[in-house]
Amino acid sequence: MAQKMSIKKENLCPKCGSPYSYVEERKVGNNIYYYAVHYSKIKGKRRKRYCYLGPKSYVNVARTHEDLGLSFKGQIQNNRAIAYLRQILNYLKNEAKEEEKQEAITLIKKFLEEVS
Ligand SMILES: [Zn+2]
Repeated sequence: MAQKMSIKKENLCPKCGSPYSYVEERKVGNNIYYYAVHYSKIKGKRRKRYCYLGPKSYVNVARTHEDLGLSFKGQIQNNRAIAYLRQILNYLKNEAKEEEKQEAITLIKKFLEEVS
């Protein structure tokens, strides 16, 4: 079933760069797929064009990353990188082996040095 989601007017389509009217949600099985809906007028007729934005969660990919506690987000989700980082940090804190934890600490320290 198609469902409409309200969005801000300044939103630009991540696929084609044009502004879109709204994002349509289509539920298929247990996953939700997003489409940007573009309206345009061609010779006075209103045309509807869809851009596929990806699924809400990448179910099949996620299955292979369950041990890391990662759930993949579609393109439409804001702050994907931060959401992933949060999940990774959570995994490192609670489940990672000491060796893995130390390696992560080294990476984080290096990151802090480089950005500050
Ligand atoms: Zn588009």
